[in-house]
Amino acid sequence: MLKGIKASSGIAIGKAFVIKEYDFKPLKIKIEDSSLEEERFNKAVEKAKKELEELIESTIKNFTENEGEIFEAHLTMLDDPELIGTVSEKILKENINAEYALKTVCDELVEIFEGIEDEYLKERIVDIKDVTKRMLRILNGQVEEGVNNIKEESIIISKDITPSQTAQMDKNKVLGFVTETGGVTSHSAIIARTLGIPAILGVHNLLDKIKNGDVLIIDGNEGVVILNPDEKTLKNYREKIERYMEDKIELLKYKDLESITLDFKKVEVAGNIGSVEEVDSIIENGGEGIGLFRTEFLYMEKEVLPNEEEQFLAYKSVVEKLNGKPVVIRTLDIGGDKKLSYLPIKEELNPFLGYRAIRLCLDRKDIFKTQLRALLRASKYGNLKIMFPMICNLEELLESKKILKECKNELKEEGLEYDENLEVGIMIEVPSAAIISDILAKEVDFFSIGTNDLIQYTMAVDRMNEKVSYLYDFNNLAVLRLIKLVIENGHREGIWVGMCGEMAGREDLIPLLLGMGLEEFSMSPSSILKVRKIIRNLSFKESSKIVKKL
Ligand code: PEP
Ligand code: MG
Repeated sequence: MLKGIKASSGIAIGKAFVIKEYDFKPLKIKIEDSSLEEERFNKAVEKAKKELEELIESTIKNFTENEGEIFEAHLTMLDDPELIGTVSEKILKENINAEYALKTVCDELVEIFEGIEDEYLKERIVDIKDVTKRMLRILNGQVEEGVNNIKEESIIISKDITPSQTAQMDKNKVLGFVTETGGVTSHSAIIARTLGIPAILGVHNLLDKIKNGDVLIIDGNEGVVILNPDEKTLKNYREKIERYMEDKIELLKYKDLESITLDFKKVEVAGNIGSVEEVDSIIENGGEGIGLFRTEFLYMEKEVLPNEEEQFLAYKSVVEKLNGKPVVIRTLDIGGDKKLSYLPIKEELNPFLGYRAIRLCLDRKDIFKTQLRALLRASKYGNLKIMFPMICNLEELLESKKILKECKNELKEEGLEYDENLEVGIMIEVPSAAIISDILAKEVDFFSIGTNDLIQYTMAVDRMNEKVSYLYDFNNLAVLRLIKLVIENGHREGIWVGMCGEMAGREDLIPLLLGMGLEEFSMSPSSILKVRKIIRNLSFKESSKIVKKL
């Protein structure tokens, strides 16, 4: 059994289709007849153009115009004298092979682009690399290996899945994805969710472990891959798939219903997202809002810091899609296990206890203010709420609020509008914050309990460490006491209290959380309908009695 990141839910059984990464490092070779070599290069350019034209057509057919734009840009580059002209010149002048000339020009361009401040140009680096890869493959006489060659229903096993590959894929034949790299918002994850197929990402050494044709079970709900399962396991999973499908259909009837108990206590069942694309799954699953937008993924999928304008557009599109429903957007929570290649953090002994989230933002006010300004500007377009992560004392909260106020003043001066009544809240995920939640509650409009970290810090148990995971317990009395304390303190100060850690979607714990008075449950979109069904079958009074007894 291999484990990875749950990127898209669902279960699939099928044969592995392994895509090996094309990695070609050309050597420098002296050429006798450089004009013949240039001709070979020009032919490769023409072939690449033809491939791209076909790709654009199939992408638009399978996906949208937007997806096709990536390849339009690649096509334009094949007419660009900066790239193609320079390569030709190099071949002719230096009498060297086309592959080496191309790779050298590409590397030089990348280096130049990396040094330029212009964000747009920086983003083109990925495109330059992608086009060069295509050209090198063609020059090497290889056809595009991959998803267009799938003959039977298969599970794709790959280092990562590129836009080129997904565009050519016959959607009816792809049962799911498993990749070595990538996170929840990598391109492959987004495509998997769009197609509604399971995906598990970040499986270590995947390509060493799985061969073409291996029988696999992939369970996107649990994030596991079972390699060559026995008959008993297969039977088990076939039944699971059947139940999963039946449940999914049955649950749809809860989509437009309220999350209300038998004795008429109304709560909110919302969803967590990590990218703008995931908003659709909130809507499809009848989410009553977004309880957590993990904005760090917006930063992670880029090669440079996202600027104010692009962040503004992302946040605006989310709140607009939610059409007045609440959207809690969390400010950057980088550090711990989440890293940015372009913002190196010095090696730390305990990254989860280190330079993370609000600590980093208060230190890098420039980064923080860019995000806050974008959030404020987007607040005008819907029901946006700002949430600060990892607050561990009152000072951090006051400082964050001060910077937010600074941003508001700046916007006012610039004549830019924002929602004056915008709510500001904090995550309660550090025990110290839970313990002084009576004080913190006076300063905010809401709390959202982040149990993923709250448990980690309360129990001193690394949430990533399998060895000590037996201590990572939602039912731990210390954790439950802290949750109860936070809810009570919040209510005493008249603010609402929600939960956006994984615990909020745990079916067995809903009565307890409901009984403690939790008002908002935010979870991965696929859990929303199940939780709503449970809430509609519970009594708030009875649930409160359970809490008292406990
Ligand atoms: C949490 O800690 O519970 C939480 C929701 O934040 P994250 O999982 O992103 O750390
Ligand atoms: Mg957290």
